[in-house]
Formats: sequence, structure tokens, C-alpha cells
Amino acid sequence: MSKETASASLRVRVLGCSGAIAQGCRTTSFLVDDHLLVDAGTGVGDLSLEQMANIDQVLLTHSHLDHIAALPLMVDAVAKRRRQPLQVRALPATLDALRRHIFNNVIWPDFTRLPSADRPFIELLPFETGDRFECLGKQIEILPAKHTVPAVGLAIDGGTGAWVFSGDTGACPAFWQRIAQLPVRALVIETAFGRDEEELARISGHLSPATLIEQLRNLPKQPDYPIHITHTKPSETETIVAQLCALELQEPHPVGWPLALQWLEAGVEFAI
Ligand SMILES: [Zn+2]
Ligand SMILES: [Zn+2]
Repeated sequence: MSKETASASLRVRVLGCSGAIAQGCRTTSFLVDDHLLVDAGTGVGDLSLEQMANIDQVLLTHSHLDHIAALPLMVDAVAKRRRQPLQVRALPATLDALRRHIFNNVIWPDFTRLPSADRPFIELLPFETGDRFECLGKQIEILPAKHTVPAVGLAIDGGTGAWVFSGDTGACPAFWQRIAQLPVRALVIETAFGRDEEELARISGHLSPATLIEQLRNLPKQPDYPIHITHTKPSETETIVAQLCALELQEPHPVGWPLALQWLEAGVEFAI
């Protein structure tokens, strides 16, 4: 039984939304209500032990360190406080990477078999792109993404529309095609590199201001929901913000522009 009944809304707290660490900057993680974690970057370290112990489910977009760094440490911190295994859901390739490179008894203990194989601290559960399932009273849909490793985006709907997170992705028409069909209430989309590194963004499977604006311009219907930019590097956030604004205001404007572009900050909470 889930700890939460199906509610009419959900709260999303930004724990981390930076592409790297520095004082005041934490990597990607979002707490949805009290029991669901989306990615497990360094922002998880701002939660209290009790808040961490309350997390029952973790959804991971992909295996990169900035999205999983806090997971092994969090499991260790709260294992004794929990009665049930923490359930970690991701693509099979992401789970395989966790088994082989993190919970391998070299980098970290294999908590999928500890303290015992029949009562482990974590369970790794696979999903596939396109899957839809209920989790803690919310409808989850696994969205396509294009990155250098297998990756997904997520749509999470608590009953009043979807909070959509792109994860890490480069240009991905299938992502936009799908979210055009969903009742989106807010979108969190990455823009990891600035205009001076557009080629690096392309080969590393990330968006830059030019590729994000190009994709938005070419949508058949312009978004009527806020678009939150995430995954900027600490030293480049101001530059990328300015570049996006400048590109957005270039002629010709599609109908509905300028868009409601906003920048995420750790600690902010949204109600969807
Ligand atoms: Zn990544
Ligand atoms: Zn990342």
C-alpha cells in the first residue's frame, strides 16, 4: 500500500538543478511530495535523515554521476530507519550500470543483496521508454530522450496535469511529439551548454540555447505552460540565460511568444 492516497495535485521541490557542484550549487534531484525522488544528484544531501528515510521510490533518468551521486550514500544513511527496501526504477541499462559500477562491493557495498539477499536495502526495478504506471498515487510516464547513454524523461501526473522533466537530452523530436499530447502543467528542460560550446553540446547529447529555441520554434503548437531551464553549469548560468532571452526575442516570433522561460533554483517548491 502506498503511503499516499491519490491526491489532486503534487508538490515538486528542487533539491538540485545545476550541471556541476560549487558552493550553493547542487546536481539534479527533485523531491515529489514526500516519498518520491526523481534523480539522486548531490541536492539530496540537503534533506534531513527523516526526509531521506521517507523516500520509498527513486526514478532515475540515466546513469550519469550527477544524477546518481547521492543514491549510494543516501541508502547507507537511512537503511536502519527503513522497514522496506528503497525501490529504484530506471532503464535496464541504467540499473546494469548501478550494479556493475556502483553497488559492486568495490565502489560501494552491494545493497541489492545486503544485509541479506531476501531483505536487501534496495531493489532495482526496470522500466522502458513509453511505459505508464502508477507510483505512490501518481501516474508516471517514461518519455523518450537522446543522450550519450540510454536516458529518459518523465511525466508525473498527480491528477491535475503533468509535471514533465526532460532529464539530460539533446534534440529529441519524439519527446516533443509525446508531450504535445499530454496535459502539461510545467516543463523542466535542460540547457547544459552555452552558444560557445554548441558542438560540445551536440556530441555530448545536451541542449544549447540555439537547439532549445529551434525546437520550441518548430513546435506545431506553442507551449502554454512555464518552461523551467535546468542543468546549467554554475559559472555559465547568467550567460546561458542571456543567450536564451536574446534568441527568444529574435524575429520572427511564433504565435504565443515570448514563452514563459524561467530558471530553476535549488530549494524552490512548485505545486502542480
Ligand atoms: Zn547525463
Ligand atoms: Zn546531467
